[in-house]
Amino acid sequence: MSPKMKKPKPTCERPESEYRFSSPLGYIIVKACDSGLHSTSLDGELTDENFTPNLREGVKLLGSSKVPEVIKKCSIWFQTYFNDLKNINSVERPDICVFKKSDLAFRELVWKTLADTVGPGEVITYGALADRLKNPGAVRAVGSAMRNNPNGIIVPCHRVVRASGLGLYHGGTRQSVKVWLLNHEGITKYS
Ligand SMILES: [Zn+2]
Repeated sequence: MSPKMKKPKPTCERPESEYRFSSPLGYIIVKACDSGLHSTSLDGELTDENFTPNLREGVKLLGSSKVPEVIKKCSIWFQTYFNDLKNINSVERPDICVFKKSDLAFRELVWKTLADTVGPGEVITYGALADRLKNPGAVRAVGSAMRNNPNGIIVPCHRVVRASGLGLYHGGTRQSVKVWLLNHEGITKYS
């Protein structure tokens, strides 16, 4: 993926705040308005070369005391994801701001369908996800939506794989993160 690729335009004009969590995968940086998450990302410096996961590192919100409801939900969701995965379906997914729009664009629909229908321990190919969107010709557009997913892990683009194997994660620079997440969910075969 080219680093010059266009970022989607922001679709929310509410004030945005930034939060930082510790996690087994390093810092998770969350940007959100009071309506929901805008983006959820791992430390920008993270690559396959410096990835050193540590399951004993707990999920903690760093530095903020008064936080909106969506960030409290986010904290519980990530704690459950990393430390008690079998119960993830019993905790509420933190709201994602863009999902509240009444007219989702194709890319947003891909993210929502993925988050709603592909749970931990499952993988889906780009093609099967396009089929699920009743748009079997849209395999490339699904790939593009995955590359531009602003809410990694919560919108589980790591569960989208190629028919022939793992597929890229973060433009191919975080393959070990994708493998770690899938292994954490009990998946060791990708196709
Ligand atoms: Zn928003």
